Amino acid sequence: MKIYLASGNVNKKKEVQELLPSHKIVLPKEEGIDFDPEETGSTFFENSMIKAKALYGIVQAPVLADDSGLCVDFLNGAPGIHSARYGALNGEHVSAEAGINKVLEELKGVKDRSARFACCMIFLLNEDRFYSVQETCEGNITEAPSGSGGFGYDPIFFVEEFGKTFAELSPEQKNSVSHRGRALEAITKLIEGL
Ligand code: IMP
Repeated sequence: MKIYLASGNVNKKKEVQELLPSHKIVLPKEEGIDFDPEETGSTFFENSMIKAKALYGIVQAPVLADDSGLCVDFLNGAPGIHSARYGALNGEHVSAEAGINKVLEELKGVKDRSARFACCMIFLLNEDRFYSVQETCEGNITEAPSGSGGFGYDPIFFVEEFGKTFAELSPEQKNSVSHRGRALEAITKLIEGL
């Protein structure tokens, strides 16, 4: 099956392709499709569905979409769906560092540092048929960044199981426990079972 990935991220494609070797994973940009829908939803699910339906509307073929972010308990779930733009002055995309600094500032002196990454993944076969999963990875926000791997909030997300931040793990270690790794594993089982 040819599956369009509602993303522009080559690394995500690689990850999905490795888990679904018998299917062909295609990024919209590989077929010259300009794809950047406005994420106007208020949940990871809504934003994931917006991406899935927008791309399905263009390609009329099975689509895999995801939306993810960091949810900090003390911040009532923020940055959440705003993770990519947290710390931005006018809502535009900013560096990961700006988001990290904002979270650390807001948690200054705070004892409760529990947080989780969440990832909603939707596999849309047609306008009326889809599978969805949402997975999480529990952790704690560190006092300062540590590690140079990964991306986004990885340097301040400490995972008990490894005693390290996401940024200190190998990609394989991170994928084995991460929100995206777990969601991808669950959705690939559903796809393989079709
Ligand atoms: P996306 O929906 O996968 O594009 O993720 C949205 C934003 O959430 C990213 O820009 C990051 O700021 C944050 N995020 C999602 N997953 C991760 C992760 O695994 N590590 C660090 N940050 C993440």
